[in-house]
Amino acid sequence: MTQRTSNLDSKTQAFLARQTHRMLIGGDWVDALDDKRIQVENPAEETIIGSIPSAHSDDVHKAVSCAKNALSQDDWGRMRPSARQNMLLKLADLIERDARTIAELEAIDNGKSAAVAQAVDVGLGLEFFRYMAGWATKIEGSTLDVSMPFLPPEAEFSAYTRREPVGVVAAIIPWNFPFLMACWKLAPALAAGCTIVLKPAEQTSLSALYLGELIGEAGFPDGVVNIVTGDGQTTGSALVSHPDVNKISFTGSTEVGQIIGRAAMDNMARVTLELGGKSPMIVLADCDPEKAAQGTAAAIFFNQGQTCSAGSRVYIHRSIFDTVVDRLAELAEAIPLGSGLDPDAQMGPLVSQIQLDRVCSYIEKGRQEGARLVTGGERADRKGYYVKPTIFVSEDDSIVIAKEEIFGPVLVAIPFDNVDDAVDRANDSRYGLAASIWSNDLSQVQTLIPKLKAGTVWVNGHNMLDANMPFGGYKLSGVGRDMGKQSLDSYLETKAVVMAL
Ligand code: ADP
Repeated sequence: MTQRTSNLDSKTQAFLARQTHRMLIGGDWVDALDDKRIQVENPAEETIIGSIPSAHSDDVHKAVSCAKNALSQDDWGRMRPSARQNMLLKLADLIERDARTIAELEAIDNGKSAAVAQAVDVGLGLEFFRYMAGWATKIEGSTLDVSMPFLPPEAEFSAYTRREPVGVVAAIIPWNFPFLMACWKLAPALAAGCTIVLKPAEQTSLSALYLGELIGEAGFPDGVVNIVTGDGQTTGSALVSHPDVNKISFTGSTEVGQIIGRAAMDNMARVTLELGGKSPMIVLADCDPEKAAQGTAAAIFFNQGQTCSAGSRVYIHRSIFDTVVDRLAELAEAIPLGSGLDPDAQMGPLVSQIQLDRVCSYIEKGRQEGARLVTGGERADRKGYYVKPTIFVSEDDSIVIAKEEIFGPVLVAIPFDNVDDAVDRANDSRYGLAASIWSNDLSQVQTLIPKLKAGTVWVNGHNMLDANMPFGGYKLSGVGRDMGKQSLDSYLETKAVVMAL
């Protein structure tokens, strides 16, 4: 452990001191049946800080059985909506109570800033539980008039729809926002009355396991939430191919999303996929260059660029291009790097050596393809998986670094002369998760919004997320939506009822 451990909250210290963490199946904290484990690494220090179970398919089977069983138990299956609401509210209160601990675990496990994690990841997560708690008491069907023209005219009917929990949910989440992603999956599933098997990413499972303890404290019956740890190949694939899973909710890469989507269809599991992106930002000529630089820098460098909706390519009108890029470079160079526990640091390490290598290989590719490196472009000369905030300029946006998701602090700036051309180029992507427009020209902005092929369009901001706003992608960025009422709907089946009177 590092010297900084002594500054940690006492609950964080106690949790980390266990080192040999366990997973949650049917209300019990257990090891994998074959005792296999995965090491947990602190990416800021490159040190091993503990281990988590590597769940085998038999462990996954047990977790799914517990979730299936919990569905039909009276203490969950017949729980009144208001009781479900109150339990979700209780959980949100417990998350708020332990916000600092969760944020510190996130900082140590993922590398992100603890201060930002407390405000953003934990703040949005608990807010989302409160938002979804409200929906638990507002699930409704419709009454419908039916015609049945083939039956005698005197026949009468009563017809209505009822919404029912979809059943056992398998939730698989990535390492970039470990706690928040767990909340995005758990809150609507629980509000709907489902039961869940959650698999956090193998790199960052600690905050989900801590959340598992709070779920027990909030009083959720055993088996309603199960948390299995392990990698994608063994644990994840056993979970998504399990025939008793009724819905899969996944956030992660497009490549894995495609595999999971296919597995879902084998069992006709309902599926929500929130996948990759290469989100464009369009800075129009009227935009204040200072605001554009500040906003677009935050859009790419937030969370070390490890954000699916990161603004990773920026189209800037040629008349202000040099001014904005110069300022972007100044801002990038002024970002202090450091551990997530260092209050003066604004950018932490990437999550792992693998991710560091991946991002550095893209930077190398950018150089080879002839993009002009404005700043950064290398690993920081220090311990930990730090990459310097990097900006490339390129006239040509068909190069790999302007097309593929890098998932690191690498921005490609591209000048444009004509707005329609900028929109066409912004849309010329296999992804369609998010986009942002930077301008105060209202008619121009309103004309552009419908033209952008993206699940979210932000104006004069980026990464502005809210519990009530659906989030998800067009094209290869995914299927379905997280957050908002649309997310709740995706955890409910619709049953049509027709009675002959
Ligand atoms: P990244 O490339 O950012 O690590 P992935 O899409 O590989 O993102 O991983 C996201 C989540 O998907 C992780 O929890 C990972 O363990 C899981 N995963 C990876 N491969 C599979 C798979 N074949 N089946 C199920 N889950 C998987």
